[in-house]
Amino acid sequence: MQKHQYEVVVVGAGGAGLTAALYASHKASTAVISKLYPTRSHTGAAQGGIGAALGNTEEDHPEWHAFDTVKGSDYLGDQEAIDFMADEAVDAVYELEHMGLPFSRNPDGTIAQRPFGGHTNNETGKPVRRACYAADRTGHMILQTLFQQSIKNKVRFFDEFYVLDLLIVDGKTAGVIALELATGEMHIFHSKTVIIATGGHGRVWEITSNAYSYTGDGVALTLRRGIPAEDMEFFQFHPTGIYRMGILITEGVRGEGGVLINGEGERFMERYAPTVKDLASRDVISRAMYLEMKDGRGIDGKRYLHMDVTPEVVNHYADVDGRKNPDGSPYRVTASDILNKLPDIIDFCETYIGINPISDPMPVQPTAHYAMGGIPTNKFGEVVVDEKNTILPGLYAAGEVACVSVHGANRLGTNALLDLIIFGKYSGLKAAEYSASEPYLDLPKEPEAFAMQQLDSIRQSKGNERMIDIAAEMKQVMFDHVGVFRVEEGMQQAVDKVRELKERFKEITIDDKGLKFNNNLIEAWELSNLIDIAEVTAVSALARTESRGAHSRDDYSERDDKNWLKHTLAWMENGGVRLGYKPVQITKYKPKARAY
Ligand SMILES: Cc1cc2nc3c(=O)[nH]c(=O)nc-3n(C[C@H](O)[C@H](O)[C@H](O)COP(=O)(O)OP(=O)(O)OC[C@H]3O[C@@H](n4cnc5c(N)ncnc54)[C@H](O)[C@@H]3O)c2cc1C
Repeated sequence: MQKHQYEVVVVGAGGAGLTAALYASHKASTAVISKLYPTRSHTGAAQGGIGAALGNTEEDHPEWHAFDTVKGSDYLGDQEAIDFMADEAVDAVYELEHMGLPFSRNPDGTIAQRPFGGHTNNETGKPVRRACYAADRTGHMILQTLFQQSIKNKVRFFDEFYVLDLLIVDGKTAGVIALELATGEMHIFHSKTVIIATGGHGRVWEITSNAYSYTGDGVALTLRRGIPAEDMEFFQFHPTGIYRMGILITEGVRGEGGVLINGEGERFMERYAPTVKDLASRDVISRAMYLEMKDGRGIDGKRYLHMDVTPEVVNHYADVDGRKNPDGSPYRVTASDILNKLPDIIDFCETYIGINPISDPMPVQPTAHYAMGGIPTNKFGEVVVDEKNTILPGLYAAGEVACVSVHGANRLGTNALLDLIIFGKYSGLKAAEYSASEPYLDLPKEPEAFAMQQLDSIRQSKGNERMIDIAAEMKQVMFDHVGVFRVEEGMQQAVDKVRELKERFKEITIDDKGLKFNNNLIEAWELSNLIDIAEVTAVSALARTESRGAHSRDDYSERDDKNWLKHTLAWMENGGVRLGYKPVQITKYKPKARAY
């Protein structure tokens, strides 16, 4: 058993973890623990952009950004935190630029911006160019830039270490326990603060844009330590995943003028969102697609639609919409514009489905994409553990694993990358500040016991269940019944199924019984996390008898502010889930019906 001591321990080396580490390391001894090599984190897969009201090509304001975010959240976002994020966004993007991030540029040298779903000019209601981007590799560039800065600042990295447990002593944070993949050794990280930045959990669903590593470890391990998870019923389905594979086709494609077309050749979004059309928010488009396919208007009657970014189609609909360039000339694209702005998308389509999007439409279906819910925090990344927002001293969470909540019931595109940078920064600053005045706490005897117990129960189990079957059954039932559309009966079926799988999980057998480089064991532990998350998600969803943002029910189709304008908190207790609720923080923007 190895022991380490750092004032700040960051779990996760994606955009949120690296930003947190960068800021904390200026003032406190800081280590980053990551199950992946840092630049393999899912942030590197982000394509489309990071939102900030720079106003480089047309009028824009942080207030508009804030209001769009509130509206996009279907009024479930906490408005003080949203204002804070939109205000900080402009400086955050310039800070990334100064760190060396190679943003795409306008001819005058300023950072280029493209339209994205739900981002509007608040006066005209028309789409506004707010997404700053580096071609369709924005996340890749962010991750590389932050990693270089962290190395420069001498942040200590522990790569391919799996954090299994959080240590809490007398209600305060005391460190984490991690398994080193290569050696199978357990490590105790004794710390004053812990920042959890472990990303999302889209692997709960069958079709997803998320990395294999998105198994919700951060939420699962805090749930096991009595910390609730907030708003877990809200999970975003992105409208455009490659059919059957789920690989993401960025919303940037629609930002550049791409349109969705049904099996009858119709641009159907005109019917569902007459003003913003293909740039409506993701929940609206995913639902529209579902309805089109359900009514038999999928391509050849199948369960997919076309995403068309071929220049003829883009230029045709640009004329229909009266879309103009910033200088007032009609908007036009050529094949080489598409190639320059969406190189990775073209590459993915050629590699995975043998289609060139410059000449052919792409087959797409909604894909599980983003967790709005997660570990509850305030706007400084401090973890809050009850209905009264009581802070758990020394514990922070940032990035997709956290629920601040700025995304409420539905996140706008480009706001996740922004969330990483802003709340990563403040959690890092707060952790360093806390570390300066607090002592290290004495560790309990055998701090690794709970983590070991979880691994041992998997290693010693001798039943007949196979991990692959349990995973497949969970993903299927969650995709079918806790997906784009939901009804009571289906969700109840999902709850029952997941509980059955939880029992069957106790009977799994893995072939490799050792600890050294045991991917088999790790995958089983990750699956146990996904099962807990599936249960909490399905139970939270079943209880919410309304439709709001990404939580859309056929049996309760209206938003119900009277009863449900509140955040869900879910605790894992006595082998089940207990639910509680806390109010949404509303300041300037009173809830209104959505109009598109
Ligand atoms: C395909 C795709 C495209 C996207 N495009 C955009 C976009 O254009 N704009 C936008 O705003 N958002 C986008 N998003 C969302 C956004 O990219 C993510 O929400 C965000 O990058 C998550 O960052 P993070 O730092 O929270 O987590 P990640 O970048 O995923 O990092 C998580 C880290 O946690 C570590 N970790 C996890 N579990 C453990 C454990 N048990 N022990 C140790 N380490 C652990 C991992 O090793 C990793 O380093 C996209 C998401 C996807 C999937």
